[in-house]
Amino acid sequence: MTHFSTLVELLRARANHEPDKLAYMFLIDGKTEGPKLSYAELDRLARAIGALLQKHNAKGERVLLLYPQGLDVMAAFLGSLYGGVIAIPAPPPDAGRLKRALPRLRAIVKDANAKFVFTNQHLLGVLQAAQLDFPEFEEMTWFASEDIDLELADQWQDPEINPDTLAYLQYTSGSTSTPKGVMISHHNIMHHCAYLQKACGYDAESVSITWMPYFHDYGLVEGLTVPIYNGHPCYVMSPMSFIKQPVRWLQAISRYRGTHSQAPNFAYEQCIRRVTEQQRATLDLSSWVAAGNAAEPINPKVLEEFFEKFSPCGFKWETFAPAYGLAENTLLVSTSPRNTPPVLCLVEKAQIEQNKIVEASSWGEGVRAIPGCGRLVCDTQVAIVNPDTLTRCAADEVGEVWVADPSVAGGYWQRPQESESTFRAKIVGNNEVSFLRTGDLGFIKGGELFITGRIKDLIIIRGTNHYPQDLEWTVQEIHPALRPDYGAAFSIDVDGVEQLVVVQEVKRKPEEEFNADEVLTNIRQAIAEIHELQAYAVVLVKPGNVLKTSSGKIQRRACKASFLAGELEVLADWSENPKYTA
Ligand code: ATP
Ligand code: MG
Repeated sequence: MTHFSTLVELLRARANHEPDKLAYMFLIDGKTEGPKLSYAELDRLARAIGALLQKHNAKGERVLLLYPQGLDVMAAFLGSLYGGVIAIPAPPPDAGRLKRALPRLRAIVKDANAKFVFTNQHLLGVLQAAQLDFPEFEEMTWFASEDIDLELADQWQDPEINPDTLAYLQYTSGSTSTPKGVMISHHNIMHHCAYLQKACGYDAESVSITWMPYFHDYGLVEGLTVPIYNGHPCYVMSPMSFIKQPVRWLQAISRYRGTHSQAPNFAYEQCIRRVTEQQRATLDLSSWVAAGNAAEPINPKVLEEFFEKFSPCGFKWETFAPAYGLAENTLLVSTSPRNTPPVLCLVEKAQIEQNKIVEASSWGEGVRAIPGCGRLVCDTQVAIVNPDTLTRCAADEVGEVWVADPSVAGGYWQRPQESESTFRAKIVGNNEVSFLRTGDLGFIKGGELFITGRIKDLIIIRGTNHYPQDLEWTVQEIHPALRPDYGAAFSIDVDGVEQLVVVQEVKRKPEEEFNADEVLTNIRQAIAEIHELQAYAVVLVKPGNVLKTSSGKIQRRACKASFLAGELEVLADWSENPKYTA
């Protein structure tokens, strides 16, 4: 279907040629078969929504999409495109967390100057009640999906959009800064869908299963949009269903013979820990051909343990499809093609701390295993560049990952300067090609892209580079009472010297006895032995103190700020300097 230039043309054609084919089915609680939509039904809804927006002269305006995960949001997303309106898939504020969600939402509404909101009646009630403290809301026009008159579909008119028209703004997660609206054009999304179709091996037999949120690029693009592009069914569940019972994800794959399903590293880890023996016995994962794994650092141990646990259910090693991407490139930069096993690169630890890649011959002390994040396929151009000198790195050097590809977005909404420096960077000596600066560090070996971490999160102590995730994983293995994936390692400046701080959450109800002093000592020891670093402060905190973004990424900078402000809820801590203890 590559001859279509917009998703609107594509869905119109699907609705004409295969009207009754299943586009989406929602699984209530991740299990019970709920609402479903065929291509014709989806197209009709999208036309009705598009026509409604056209009635309001909304072409070119921004429309915020706030929904619980489900099919309504996809109808509203596509409806916005049908109306020629720029969609903004944003995280829905649920009543319980309204206070926390509102500032981000408000920032998005202001940044995008959004005039319209599509939501459902429930959220409409919640948000209208919050209007008092939110004057921007009052000026917006609100629509609830339940109130949409399907008859309007017949009044829809072709929005006269072209490939350069903006389709949506993808706000970044906000892991390192305030979220920025990445401008995705119709050309970007169409090109990227074609890329994913080829790179991830989608075909006529494909079946997608997704619980990744629609407001995250992973959920929106590969989870929900690629199925329409490729023309295969997609079973949708909510992220909450997965969090409550991770087995529901695997059960859906078993039941619907899912071939493609993706999630970040933490999700695989949840399955290892929380799927019981009894549950495992009921699973058949033999249909799964691409288990995408991106959005956050991939822990090789998690791959191994997941495989060990689920290979008896038919899960194959080559099903793992490590990948790497960012909203600024629509979604992925690299991915593992079908039937290729994941790769690990063993490197000398002391060398990589100096940005040099020296391969180690075997696993052992002083060796670091770096997981491959997929291959560079379909003409994606990646350069590894020294972020200070802006010159190309040598083949054995770690540098910033720069990307040139039709999937690279036009820039950040209303931020010309940041757009120029991030999206139109030039390598010294070559003025012709414009690159996207990803802010991530990595290297290429044998056509495989290896990501070592983010520049902004890098901990540089005594001239040596340490990646926070390595330190956090070391800490989390010390005791089962420590919450996996809820730690933050960062450095602070103490009298002009960078010093390491580690903040780690303790489970609400540890299953095993927990002696805080002993755990603190063991953490320091492990950091010293494994990473040859002296921790300056180690802080054990209550759950809820290591903040994450709406897409589940650790906000190390926010954690550092809380630490420095003395705002963490400390259970036990140790520091070389009493000033930093509670
Ligand atoms: P912000 O830009 O607002 O700080 P964010 O960068 O987390 O937020 P996203 O675009 O959702 O927003 O995430 C992209 C980032 O996720 C990448 O730049 C990279 O740092 C990280 N990432 C993605 N895939 C991987 C991977 N396989 N390994 C390590 N990191 C990854
Ligand atoms: Mg980013």
